[in-house]
Amino acid sequence: MKTPIYLDNHATTSVDPRVLEAMLPFFSETFGNAASRNHAFGWAAEEGVEEARAQIAAIVGAGAKEVVFTSGATESDNLALVGVAEFYKDKGNHIITAPTEHKAILDTCHMLEQRGYEITYLDLDQHGSIDLDQLAQAITDKTILVSLMAANNEIGTIHPLKEIGRITRERGVLFHTDATQGVGHMDIDVEEMNIDLASYTAHKIYGPKGCGALYVRRRKPRTRLTPIIHGGGHERGLRSGTLNVPGIIGFGKACEIMQAEGVAGREHLLYLRDRLHQGITHEIGEVYLNGHPTERHPGNLNLSFAYVEGESLLMGISDIAVSSGSACTSASLEPSYVLRSLGVGVELAHSSIRFGVGRFNTEEEIDFVIKRMVEVVSRLREMSPLYELAQDGVDISKIQWNQH
Ligand SMILES: *Cc1c(COP(=O)(O)O)cnc(C)c1O
Repeated sequence: MKTPIYLDNHATTSVDPRVLEAMLPFFSETFGNAASRNHAFGWAAEEGVEEARAQIAAIVGAGAKEVVFTSGATESDNLALVGVAEFYKDKGNHIITAPTEHKAILDTCHMLEQRGYEITYLDLDQHGSIDLDQLAQAITDKTILVSLMAANNEIGTIHPLKEIGRITRERGVLFHTDATQGVGHMDIDVEEMNIDLASYTAHKIYGPKGCGALYVRRRKPRTRLTPIIHGGGHERGLRSGTLNVPGIIGFGKACEIMQAEGVAGREHLLYLRDRLHQGITHEIGEVYLNGHPTERHPGNLNLSFAYVEGESLLMGISDIAVSSGSACTSASLEPSYVLRSLGVGVELAHSSIRFGVGRFNTEEEIDFVIKRMVEVVSRLREMSPLYELAQDGVDISKIQWNQH
């Protein structure tokens, strides 16, 4: 077993060797531009791209013609939101989303607010779930779009896509979902769920970085977008620029493997994730699960460790690659905005760890991580006067600290 152990699969995944193998010829022999119509180099590249397009569409139950290639989910989110906002501006200026969305959604919404659009951010309960009645009530005759993610990248909470889609379809507004963490890890069917737009990306499902897709519904209803990138008219004018052929081939293969491994792949993640959760909580107390207890991504485990300091915890587990809700892992000084919007206190947000279990993790690695977590948290708590007071039955939240 090699350290550091990689448990940050929501940030990115390694490229599956089968994906890499499929990509390699498209860097060398089959290097053509898929838009070159006059020779065999172009035709071969185009053929590969169209096969991949069908695989990428299939993972969300879409048709190949409904996939627009982008540089990743960030661009797909931007294209969906800005594209709809621009195209439908005469119909309305109101968009509904939630405060736990990825920054690619939230920052785009903030930009649209500055351009005069109105954004409603739905309330969330302590698990990060929305209230469907509130969603239905928030829709007005000015609403053009609802954007809610499939599975959350920090806390794993899954939104009820089918119920959301039923409401948006009934009320005649478009439904976009950032499905980046959802594809392959949960059932997503754009027909059954009435999804009109869906963003996803190769590098979260064992494909290469820099290659994403936006599903755009073609009929019932035909979903229209104003492009945000202009040029040679590629992707039916929706996204100009020479296609990233090797990336797209890898994305297609990654989707094919995800679909083929289906339930078995999810069960592998679930088994390791639950083993990790139980292993830790069996040995140490005052560990809190963030996110929904059952409606969650199979590889996601987000835990807060009371009475330990986030920075010290991370330093103690330097042979495990994870993310933290602590400010020290991000550019800002605020702890995780996702945890804060669920009402998690500053202390518990700072001492949170996001474990993202992936395809290539093993039981041996999980057992090593359990041991290390228990060791480090116990040691830090032994040194903590607060933990000692709490063990003696003192309610720490009621302590009056001396001001100097
Ligand atoms: C990773 C991620 C993104 C950004 O994807 P990129 O391809 O890196 O731009 C967007 N949304 C969610 C939910 C993500 O997890």
